[in-house]
Amino acid sequence: IFPDLKDKRVLITGSTMGIGLATAQAFAQQGAKVGINGRKAPEQVDTLLADMQAAGGEAAFFAGDLSHSAGCAQLVADFVAHFGGIDVLINNAGGLVGRKPLESIDDAFFDAVADLNMRSMLMTTQAALPHLRESAKQSGQTASVISVGSIAGYTGGGPGASLYGAAKAWVHNVQKNWVDFHTKDGIRFNIVSPGTVDTAFHADKNEEVRQRISSGIPMGRFGLAAEMAPAFLFFASHACSGYVTGQILDVNGGQFMP
Ligand code: NAD
Repeated sequence: IFPDLKDKRVLITGSTMGIGLATAQAFAQQGAKVGINGRKAPEQVDTLLADMQAAGGEAAFFAGDLSHSAGCAQLVADFVAHFGGIDVLINNAGGLVGRKPLESIDDAFFDAVADLNMRSMLMTTQAALPHLRESAKQSGQTASVISVGSIAGYTGGGPGASLYGAAKAWVHNVQKNWVDFHTKDGIRFNIVSPGTVDTAFHADKNEEVRQRISSGIPMGRFGLAAEMAPAFLFFASHACSGYVTGQILDVNGGQFMP
């Protein structure tokens, strides 16, 4: 469906499981060259990579903790050393870190949430910028940065997730400035903003809570990681979205309509 994604070099942060992994698999099916990342290699990394190769892509794993700026720069350097450049960056690494109500937030928690959700997105994009610029120059088409927002970025987040929600609101906002100042570089910036997706992110919820959340979603169920992936393919494809930048695509079963 997306022929122009074949051989595109796609770096996906935080992609050893969940939405990132499903997205990596979708890109591999399009024949892309995919870099997956996590703090450390998952046990089944060889199988994951072999499956992506068998699906028609090329795939490699790059370890790196993106809570630190040095980790972001190293990941980009490792990916470029392997694949020779970057055409598409997907800033997916992120998470709750934990749940803390206002009364119990401390400096360490504030830093951890900001580092994982904001610093990682900012510093990985910064490190990738020269390579994305080069990609656009060489191809004569746009390069693409796709970041993962959240429904929490609009609603403020669930119990104990105020900082996470605020960090995702920051993600939703910061790309506006980059659109203003880096469109001239041939780079597009867009966001996929999931609703409630059935991944390890919700491992703390029992069946009763899951039912309650599902009943508030017009689709009546959690989303699947694989249902997020096509939105990334769309934003990565110059042929499909070459004139689309600065946008947020909400993939949430109707759970929230901004
Ligand atoms: P997940 O927990 O299944 O996956 C998280 C991924 O991030 C894993 O691959 C993990 O290895 C990686 N990761 C965690 N910390 C990292 C670090 N410091 N450095 C590098 N990688 C790291 O979660 P998911 O649900 O697939 O979440 C993916 C993204 O989607 C996150 O940004 C999350 O905030 C966002 N999101 C998820 C939901 C949801 O309902 N699941 C909703 C909205 C947004």
